Amino acid sequence: MGKTKEYSNGDVTIVWKPEACIHSAICVKGLGEVLQPKEKPWIKNDATST
Ligand code: SF4
Repeated sequence: MGKTKEYSNGDVTIVWKPEACIHSAICVKGLGEVLQPKEKPWIKNDATST
């Protein structure tokens, strides 16, 4: 199954599977205010509206 990490703002939960991530950065290009790979945690689910 592999490890998963969940990031929720109460309305939406982003589920990230580190072992499946190929680091293509498509998510960062599409929603950079939420997905910030240089930060910890790198997914900031409260950075924009649901
Ligand atoms: S879209 Fe983002 S999370 Fe998904 S595989 Fe690519 S870099 Fe990883």
